Amino acid sequence: MGILKSFNPANQEIVGEVRVTPLVEIPDIISRARAAQSHWNALGLEERAAMLKKSEVIFDERMQEHGELITNEMGKPIKEALFEAKFLGVGLDRELDEIVEALQPDVIEDRGVRSTVYHDPLGVVGAITPWNFPMSMPSWMLMPALAAGNTVVFKPSEETPLCGQAYADVLNEVLPEDVLIVAHGADDQGKAVVASGVDMIAFTGSRAVGKHILREASGTLTRVVLELGGKDPMIVLEDANLDKAAQFAASNSFRNAGQVCVSTERIFVLDSVAEEFEQTLAELASVMTVGSGIEGADVGPMVNATQRDHVLGQVEAAVAEGATVLAGGKGHHDNFVTPTVLADVTGDMEIARAETFGPVACVTRVASVDEAVEMANDTAFGLGAVVFGGDEEATASVARRLTAGMIGINRGVGGASGTPWVGARESGFGFHKSKDGHRQFTQTRVVTLAQ
Ligand code: NAD
Repeated sequence: MGILKSFNPANQEIVGEVRVTPLVEIPDIISRARAAQSHWNALGLEERAAMLKKSEVIFDERMQEHGELITNEMGKPIKEALFEAKFLGVGLDRELDEIVEALQPDVIEDRGVRSTVYHDPLGVVGAITPWNFPMSMPSWMLMPALAAGNTVVFKPSEETPLCGQAYADVLNEVLPEDVLIVAHGADDQGKAVVASGVDMIAFTGSRAVGKHILREASGTLTRVVLELGGKDPMIVLEDANLDKAAQFAASNSFRNAGQVCVSTERIFVLDSVAEEFEQTLAELASVMTVGSGIEGADVGPMVNATQRDHVLGQVEAAVAEGATVLAGGKGHHDNFVTPTVLADVTGDMEIARAETFGPVACVTRVASVDEAVEMANDTAFGLGAVVFGGDEEATASVARRLTAGMIGINRGVGGASGTPWVGARESGFGFHKSKDGHRQFTQTRVVTLAQ
């Protein structure tokens, strides 16, 4: 019987272990989820949402425990982990109300006919999640999927199985049996869930795996929602508040040790203000503490040695090709990578093209706004982007020229509540949140009668 051990990336100690789901058991799991679906659906939308809302109080009670588990299992600083754990419960009530509203049938009347547009469940959803937000990513998928009347087979990341299990345990305290079933393991279990005949695959993770899933799903035209990686740009205009811009860059390049899909990975700054911006950013990076997240360091470890080697490999190659190290670049040890600021990064370097997912801010000086926009858009990705500028109208017009799905002006990309979390180009296929995002977990069905 396979056992998956979970290691603390800060000290390599074992945090716990789970039983790997044998591949031969996956078909049976899907059958159980399918058998439970009609009863779950029959409860009705409001009743399902009310049941899910009961988890809010449990998430609140376990906030500290969940926060510590997140830090111990994947390394992020405890402050960030507690923030993630807090919002599993806080706001859930409103989120479920929003889902209920989005899934109400629409009635449309026209020329003697009356049509009702229903948002019915698809059946069984396979939900596959990454490790970087090991409890909030499942929540983003499972809440709309379950409220819509689907049952779910959930495969958490093999890096954070305990967080995935802890999340599912809370929901399973309020849900009927087999409405949510966890399958543990790595890519083999993920592939098995994809190939199992589920009615939808909701996936958040890397672009490469997303493409694989899309190919696999094409055989059966299974519905997919893919939230994938990014290579987010930031543009700093001449009239930007440079302190605020540098503070944002430091926090958004180094948060969660850069292991965030909307991390700022490429910064394009106008020549005339570049030196001041670079210096301020380098100073901010150099005072950040690096160490165990549970002990309150600003920057925790990379999730594992593979991720560390990937990040350091990109930095080393960039320096060999002419990038200048303004901060960090040395002092790395174990899984810890020092916050690093690179200047003179050119668009053809690997570090400017492939997702880094580490605490590295890459700065490129540009001669004009047009050049900044052109370089920012010169990527296969398109998740988020940020523009800092003084003149509101001019900054907003630069924002409108960017090809990302979410663009922040003088702030990060997160939108008002009720807006979608959406990637453009190869950063996403379908999306989450918002009325349209919630409806992606449903089959639209139109019933028309004569008036
Ligand atoms: P990953 O793609 O390696 O793995 C994600 C999940 O897919 C894991 O559970 C893994 O076991 C499973 N998996 C691996 N191969 C599979 C296959 N062939 N078929 C089915 N499942 C498979 O990603 P990761 O390293 O866990 O997460 C980091 C990535 O996630 C980054 O690229 C990041 O940008 C992205 N991400 C995107 C968002 C977003 O909202 N767009 C949010 C968080 C993370």
